[in-house]
Amino acid sequence: MNMRNISPQIPDLAAISFSDLSAFAQELGLASYRARQIRRWIDARGAASFAEMTDLPKALREQLGARARIFTPPVVRENTAPDGTRKFLLELEDGLTVECVLIPDENRLTLCLSTQVGCPVNCSFCLTGRMGLARNLTSAEIVGQVRAVWPRTGRRITNIVLMGMGEPLLNFENTADALRRLTDPMGFAFSSRRITLSTAGIVPGIERLGREGPPVNLAVSLNATTDELRTRLIPINRKWPIDRLLAALRAYPLPPRRRITIEYVLLGGENDTDEDARRLAALLKGLRCKVNLIPFNPFPGSLHRSPDRNSVERFQRILTEKRYSAFVRESRGKEIRAACGQLWAEEKKTGDELRVES
Ligand code: SAH
Ligand code: SF4
Repeated sequence: MNMRNISPQIPDLAAISFSDLSAFAQELGLASYRARQIRRWIDARGAASFAEMTDLPKALREQLGARARIFTPPVVRENTAPDGTRKFLLELEDGLTVECVLIPDENRLTLCLSTQVGCPVNCSFCLTGRMGLARNLTSAEIVGQVRAVWPRTGRRITNIVLMGMGEPLLNFENTADALRRLTDPMGFAFSSRRITLSTAGIVPGIERLGREGPPVNLAVSLNATTDELRTRLIPINRKWPIDRLLAALRAYPLPPRRRITIEYVLLGGENDTDEDARRLAALLKGLRCKVNLIPFNPFPGSLHRSPDRNSVERFQRILTEKRYSAFVRESRGKEIRAACGQLWAEEKKTGDELRVES
């Protein structure tokens, strides 16, 4: 484990809460607006050092440099796919690595963030799931992904999705804290409408998010229409089966004009038949939702197949005929393995061998 960057006595002003930052500023005898100014520099303006904070007096910048630090996770690897998708591998202070993916579209620039190193849920179709959980990310590390990538984008990040490594609702406190910071008008100031949290279906987490907020968009990876198959794909389905999950979604306090996104990874020959599509339509009846169909993105050693084009089209048509909005989301950046967890696994490659920890 690499511990070289850790200096616990010197506070990292990018990692501490705003109230701790205010207390720190007060200890230095600074006026209260200085804490806001520093937080704004770090979050809204992406400052990686005190030297950049040009509207602070030089003596203060030097004083801050001696008493505090700003940690931004370094990008240790970056890949760009032909479609413009960029994938970053970031190194955390303890030497573990985490990935995030930047996805450009005509009108949007979406950053896909991780919430855990690895994931404990162990979905059979997901490379991250094979790694198990190394640890939760702190809220500063979740936000740190935005701070690390932001200066490299050349244009404003418009949307945030929590669809990278990990299950956000199994790291609830840190994720909620990060979301508050991302929506804070003093900091990143993202609208909660432009943030989407994706969950494998942690029912108590969905209920808690509904109660406590912040009111970000909710996406749920349903991926199957029978409990028998869903439990095989997503083991937590044993604990929170489909009817309980859908009941939680129906009870979710959706803001007006918003819809829940139902994600459905299409696995060739397993969940992509006409019958599955009809069952899905029946299950979703009365739920304010749209459906994202995601053709399975294979990886070395995966036991599933991509669906053929025909079945994807038929699946979508059946849902559309039943008046659902159904979109096919081709995996972006396939060539660089931008799907969930795949960069991380690449980094572990030794010679020609792909080592995936299980
Ligand atoms: N843990 C959360 C968020 C991260 S996964 C969740 O499961 O929702 C984000 C999305 O990627 C999920 O919808 C998941 O079903 C999908 N996914 C994972 N592995 C995939 C693969 N190999 N091909 C296509 N989609 C995949
Ligand atoms: Fe975890 Fe989501 Fe991957 Fe399942 S699909 S293992 S919940 S990251």
